[in-house]
Amino acid sequence: MRALRDLTAQITRDYDRKRSLDDISTIMAHRIGVGESALQVAEWFREHGPDWIGTRSMPYTFIITRLGLIEQALPLTVKSPHARKWNRSAVGIGVVGDFRETEPSNAQTASFIVLCARLQDRLGRQLTVIGHTDVKDSTRDPSKVCPGRLFPLSSLREVSYSMGQIIC
Ligand SMILES: [Zn+2]
Repeated sequence: MRALRDLTAQITRDYDRKRSLDDISTIMAHRIGVGESALQVAEWFREHGPDWIGTRSMPYTFIITRLGLIEQALPLTVKSPHARKWNRSAVGIGVVGDFRETEPSNAQTASFIVLCARLQDRLGRQLTVIGHTDVKDSTRDPSKVCPGRLFPLSSLREVSYSMGQIIC
């Protein structure tokens, strides 16, 4: 069975910025290729982050591995540097792979839906589900494409929204 693995104690740093749960309105999908796990991705940004994003902080609140394991890298109350003006309002989910070139695995898309549903339950409201470069002011690189056209965001968004309407 897939489980959510909590790595927040290992990855969170005292220089990370904070936000409140009320700030969160959005779930933002990213592709990530600098590691296969939350610990590897966090380590990469600790080393290379200052050159790439100007900080050593972990950009993604969650990582979904190729096998579909959901890893929590940061508490929801950390405002992480994943999408410039969207850092405060969006929870960043880094999905391991390059979806400009390949589709995510079925396990990854299933986990993405589960995670969206869980976040909406946790916050008690519907969250907007978007891709990193679907919106303005989310990156310095105008040619960036993230997570990529092979990531089936519109169907995942629809399933996530309908799951948010289940009354239990
Ligand atoms: Zn991205």
